[in-house]
Amino acid sequence: MREPSVSRFTAGRLSPIRRTADLRRLRDEEFDVLVVGGGVTGAGAALDAASRGLKVALVEARDFAAGTSSRSSKLIHGGLRYLEQLELHLVHEALTERGLLATRIAPHLVRPVPILVPLPTANPAMRVWQRAYYGLGVAAYDVFAGVFGGGRGMPLHRHLTRDGARHLFPSLRAEKITGAIRYYDGQMDDARLVVNLARTAASLGAAVVTSARVTGFLREARQVVGVRVRDLESPDQPEFEVRAKTVVAATGVWSDDMSEMLRDVGLRPGLRVRASKGVHLVVPRSAITGEAGLILRTATSVLFVLPWGGHWIIGTTDTDWQLDRSHPAASARDIRYLLDQVNTVLDRPLTTDDIEGVYAGLRPLLSGEADSTSKLSREHAVVEPMLGLLLVAGGKYTTYRVMAADVIDVAVRRLGGPARPSITDQLPLLGADGYAAAWRDRQDMARRHGVTTGVVEHLLERYGTLTVHLLAMMAAEPELAEPLAGSPEYLAVEVAYAALAEGALHLDDVLTRRTRISIETTHRGTESAEHAARVMGAVLGWDETIRAREVEHYLARVAAERQSQTMPDDLTADAARIGAPDVRGLAGDRLPGEGKGDLLEVEL
Ligand SMILES: Cc1cc2nc3c(=O)[nH]c(=O)nc-3n(C[C@H](O)[C@H](O)[C@H](O)COP(=O)(O)OP(=O)(O)OC[C@H]3O[C@@H](n4cnc5c(N)ncnc54)[C@H](O)[C@@H]3O)c2cc1C
Repeated sequence: MREPSVSRFTAGRLSPIRRTADLRRLRDEEFDVLVVGGGVTGAGAALDAASRGLKVALVEARDFAAGTSSRSSKLIHGGLRYLEQLELHLVHEALTERGLLATRIAPHLVRPVPILVPLPTANPAMRVWQRAYYGLGVAAYDVFAGVFGGGRGMPLHRHLTRDGARHLFPSLRAEKITGAIRYYDGQMDDARLVVNLARTAASLGAAVVTSARVTGFLREARQVVGVRVRDLESPDQPEFEVRAKTVVAATGVWSDDMSEMLRDVGLRPGLRVRASKGVHLVVPRSAITGEAGLILRTATSVLFVLPWGGHWIIGTTDTDWQLDRSHPAASARDIRYLLDQVNTVLDRPLTTDDIEGVYAGLRPLLSGEADSTSKLSREHAVVEPMLGLLLVAGGKYTTYRVMAADVIDVAVRRLGGPARPSITDQLPLLGADGYAAAWRDRQDMARRHGVTTGVVEHLLERYGTLTVHLLAMMAAEPELAEPLAGSPEYLAVEVAYAALAEGALHLDDVLTRRTRISIETTHRGTESAEHAARVMGAVLGWDETIRAREVEHYLARVAAERQSQTMPDDLTADAARIGAPDVRGLAGDRLPGEGKGDLLEVEL
């Protein structure tokens, strides 16, 4: 529980000082629930448990969302595909979540994005059938959202003629379509939403520590009673023990590693997770002319072309992956496949020269062994392979809250006492409260703070009503109001704030996940690295050696990624990517908590 004298905003600030304090708590306290994994599932579970009044800790080996949760298609969606497969329960569940996120939980982070379903050219009878088939599907989607979806939060669909479709999306090849249907889904920045979940959990008293890798379980007889943790920011320090009544492993494609840690007991893990790689390309908005996204059918799945600020995101692939899970690599073959698919409908074909960024993620797919008694839906599962340990895996980003509530329901039953139901459907994340009014009054806010409306809009859409904290920092230190070198759409203050309040510990955290500079610029962040390291270093107390090492590491990572993307297949791409070591574990001489963080604390 949060100390009552501390405001919720202050408690939700993941500063270097806070990390030191939370590390101490991990060593000293016993938790009701300890969550392993700071992806969307783990951060959601920590928030669910903390909001029920439990004593909670969250440990993440690398950074928030460093795994799959920063590498998705960034859609909060019901899944038109599920509708086609008549998985109505899943569509209903996901559309309910979409409505909640867009209207109550995170309206500052989840926005409607229009998407066209192009209707391909065909003979007249086929045309009628296609329009009826897709039209019915999209109408059912809206009906599910409106009637059963708990607040739609999205505009309704519309049928378009060929001219209408080309008006919205001039780059569509006219001879390829007879018309289109426009529908809406939710779009979000996946990594930012996870940070926001973790901060909201922290604001309710959870101890939240990144760069904290779980290396094993503590056991008493046949019960798990905690975990062993290595602080990757202090690699010379010995591992330490964290005690908890229940451990929840929300480790996505690393779930089997958790079971493996208990292999000597000879138990069945209860679920197995396999990894399927999905690659996305990012191209500049000018490469394609269109005001909506596209969903295209491919031989095996679907391909999205989605507007993303000044860019387009194009993806994805779907192939088995058994190589390095921390840094899944996109090969030249993946990139070729995506370009070939999207070029079937574009009037000006895209080439590799158009590509700004490429990212690859791993879907955590349940495979075999899922224990039917504890399986909560076709999509995700919660199992208890050993007393005191719960594994939760599968599902999709959109339904993180359902997964979180399911696993914490089981934890609460185990803990005994009065069963407290999940309240996260009623709980706005930090920055969500008052968002609609702040957006309405954004011009006033800009005038009051002496910045442009564009700056306020940019900040509101990324920080919600927490924007006032960034504006206060800019007023206190005018150089923080400057654009970031090489990435002028971001401001220096965002880098400082990431280190001061959003738990960013390394340059990579800021350039890859707090901002998306690593995929949104052709230089992939290399031209922003020096400036960002200076700003970040001032908050975290970096000396010249640490600053140089952070930059060097980032440049090496980008170089390795670029090289991997020229390799013909997964094996060679993986070999090239793992040439650059992970920055975590290399930072032993860093002293978190030192530096300007203490000074800026006062001003927020
Ligand atoms: C290409 C692609 C596109 C997708 N698009 C969408 C979409 O548009 N919409 C949607 O709803 N879903 C989408 N998904 C699915 C969604 O992204 C995932 O289901 C979701 O992000 C999984 O989150 P997670 O928290 O379970 O796993 P992760 O995000 O991988 O989190 C697991 C975390 O556990 C940590 N961890 C592992 N081992 C340890 C340890 N020993 N100690 C401490 N921490 C540890 C990892 O570092 C990691 O951060 C997509 C997935 C992919 C791959």
